[in-house]
Amino acid sequence: MSDKESLVEQKPFIPFSRPWIDDTEIEAVSQVLASKWISSGARVREFERAFAEYLGVKHAIAVSSCTAALHLSLVVTGIGIGDEVITTPYTFTATAEAIRYVGAKPVFVDIVPDTLNIDIAKIEQAITTKTKAIMPVHIAGLPCDMDVLQKICHKHNLILIDDAAHALPTQYNGHYIGNIGDLSAFSFYANKNLTTAEGGMITTNNDAYAEQLQTMRLHGIDKDAWSRQSRRSIWRYDITSEGYKYNMTDIQAAIGLCQLMKLNKQHERRRKFAEIYHSELQKFSQIRTPFVPDNETEHAWHLYIIQLQETDRDEFVETLREENIECSVHYIPLHLFDFYQKQYDYKEGDFPYAEEVFERVVSLPLHPGMTNDDIYIVIEAIGKVLKE
Ligand SMILES: *Cc1c(COP(=O)(O)O)cnc(C)c1O
Repeated sequence: MSDKESLVEQKPFIPFSRPWIDDTEIEAVSQVLASKWISSGARVREFERAFAEYLGVKHAIAVSSCTAALHLSLVVTGIGIGDEVITTPYTFTATAEAIRYVGAKPVFVDIVPDTLNIDIAKIEQAITTKTKAIMPVHIAGLPCDMDVLQKICHKHNLILIDDAAHALPTQYNGHYIGNIGDLSAFSFYANKNLTTAEGGMITTNNDAYAEQLQTMRLHGIDKDAWSRQSRRSIWRYDITSEGYKYNMTDIQAAIGLCQLMKLNKQHERRRKFAEIYHSELQKFSQIRTPFVPDNETEHAWHLYIIQLQETDRDEFVETLREENIECSVHYIPLHLFDFYQKQYDYKEGDFPYAEEVFERVVSLPLHPGMTNDDIYIVIEAIGKVLKE
């Protein structure tokens, strides 16, 4: 084979996800490094203000990850040992892990197979005297029914903490996720819709929570508290609450500010790609395309999750891989993992819809750095794989 022939043979590799980074982020990080103020400072405050303004929420508190954001949200609302928090088994482990951090129990409620979100109709049956909060996850960026969740929380005096790791920018009835729950936790991990490499944000309209969170995320240190008491030297500080090492750095915040500027643009691209997938994949009887919400609701399209019928999922993913197309699977239900079975007595069969859906789902490549051509390459490869 000549060089030319081998080039023709080569299929482009389509990665599942890639961060949308360009020279603006590189320049912004360089500026922070050159300034010599590299940990938490002015950039973090600027990022928090811009993020809160984007969502129209009163407070945004930057932290080191979404896991930290979920943990602090539970701490600030006083949830602890012996309490129960209702969530979905169909999520990343971080959701339930954060509940364990405070010594509470993650109580799983099965999902609706269509939306992949927690089945709201089953929540009230799971509420006990120990239940303190509901922690829904807006899977793939499709919002849970927040009106109903708020009603349930109000009726049973529960706190609504949403895992909004996928939900940027997601709108529910014309309001952004992050501006509806008591506290919302966002992720800026490398593959998320907005990335700071690692990072997270808590949003809330509650002034008291916000004030405590700002202190708790950095060792419980309150410099203002001391200066209010005395006019002593600037190195003095007080520890006013329990503390954690969960602060965000200015390096991360500088990336986040650039990413926030591009958020609408990246969302437009994701939405357009999802539309192409949607219209083209309807042709295949073996594929169920994801649920698309009505106009009042904006899907963030963090993930494009299809459900296969009468097709072996693992084989489908492997064959696409041979076609140089990288897919993923979201999620292995948490109650199937060894740790959750040992720790909380969950077992196979407990959440049949989560299990059934898990066997069928495939997350297709979807990220703003893709082109229309890339999407059609994926669709063509899927057609080939399904024919074989
Ligand atoms: C990514 C993710 C998290 C964790 O985010 P980190 O920022 O990595 O801590 C939590 N929940 C869900 C649903 C996620 O996808």
